[in-house]
Amino acid sequence: MKLYVATHNQHKIREIGQILPDFEITADDPEGVEENAPDFAGNALIKVRAIAVKHKGDWCLADDSGLEVNALGGEPGVRSARYAGEPSNTPNNNALLLKNLSGVTDRRANFTCAIAIVDPKGSERTVVGKCFGRIAEKPSGAEGFGYDPLFIPDGYDKSFAELTADEKNAISHRGRALAEAAKVFVA
Ligand code: IMP
Repeated sequence: MKLYVATHNQHKIREIGQILPDFEITADDPEGVEENAPDFAGNALIKVRAIAVKHKGDWCLADDSGLEVNALGGEPGVRSARYAGEPSNTPNNNALLLKNLSGVTDRRANFTCAIAIVDPKGSERTVVGKCFGRIAEKPSGAEGFGYDPLFIPDGYDKSFAELTADEKNAISHRGRALAEAAKVFVA
């Protein structure tokens, strides 16, 4: 079975391939599509619809994710990639997050990942995965990407950036959303 994934990120393609080994997976970047929905599921739907029109009769999938910080009213949320402005800049995003949380004792946060799927008949489904934790006072670790050096998942005293890829995938928002998505494919 063929599965088209709306991304240019080969890391995501590899991760999805590990969880859905029976699919022949092809990346199809929905370049230029405006991700202007107010939530992750809405943006995942925008992306999957943009590629599904080209692949009628096959499975299509898109994901959208980000960091939500309780004390910041859910920010950076859907603006996670560009929190500190365009173009996306990870060091600036992380520095702004620490600045906005300076002196704040409630550091609770979660990563959320929404996955939207269009099946070969054109029906749409969305699933969500979350990983709860807190924002550290300073970065640590060199693995992963984005906000990983600042996010300490519940039950750990290490940041995401100090975990191996397998350790992170087992508990991450994306790993959990993909596990939910896998159920859609066997249903
Ligand atoms: P995307 O929708 O997966 O491209 O994620 C949007 C943004 O959310 C990324 O650019 C990161 O800033 C942040 N983000 C999403 N997932 C993660 C993660 O697993 N670790 C760190 N940052 C993440």
